[in-house]
Amino acid sequence: KSGFISIIGRPNVGKSTFLNRVIGQKIAIMSDKPQTTRNKVQGVLTQNDSQMIFIDTPGIHKPKHKLGDFMMKVATNTLKEVDLILFMINATEGYGRGDEFIIEKLQTVKTPVFLVVNKIDAMHPDDLLPIIEKYQKLYPFAAVVPISALEGNNVDTLLEQIKEHL
Ligand code: GDP
Ligand code: MG
Repeated sequence: KSGFISIIGRPNVGKSTFLNRVIGQKIAIMSDKPQTTRNKVQGVLTQNDSQMIFIDTPGIHKPKHKLGDFMMKVATNTLKEVDLILFMINATEGYGRGDEFIIEKLQTVKTPVFLVVNKIDAMHPDDLLPIIEKYQKLYPFAAVVPISALEGNNVDTLLEQIKEHL
């Protein structure tokens, strides 16, 4: 099985950290500052029975100027062409306007979407279910997977579920 997987989400939710963990190389730039991933960085995870091609997709945010508008169109087209979208959120933050904008974009594509709830290491377990329920009311996710990209919790489970969807 093989396929293209696009990772989207607000700045700082942990997209680059996740990509670096699964690919095992520093291919995406990690930083506390938003918008440091300037290019569509691709990483390939080859296993004995599968190949996953990950795309770190910047530009899915409300455009503030013409160039942003163009980048957004490029990003939206990418979402239409991939096999699976990982919509990553930060479990320690609530639902925000950035997410609202992304969900609007997701509603324009037919690609299946996983909700990846990241940073579960930094939250109280009781807070997890309310967050998941909030997002599930807004979009029919093909799967919901809580992870810690930083510590690696549940990342293997996520990779297994991705494989099943390719
Ligand atoms: P991106 O903007 O979505 O690519 O986010 P980054 O991967 O650059 O991560 C932003 C910040 O969140 C960094 O300081 C990371 O170390 C931190 N971070 C990423 N994943 C996790 C996680 O699972 N748990 C915790 N506690 N911090 C994380
Ligand atoms: Mg990044």
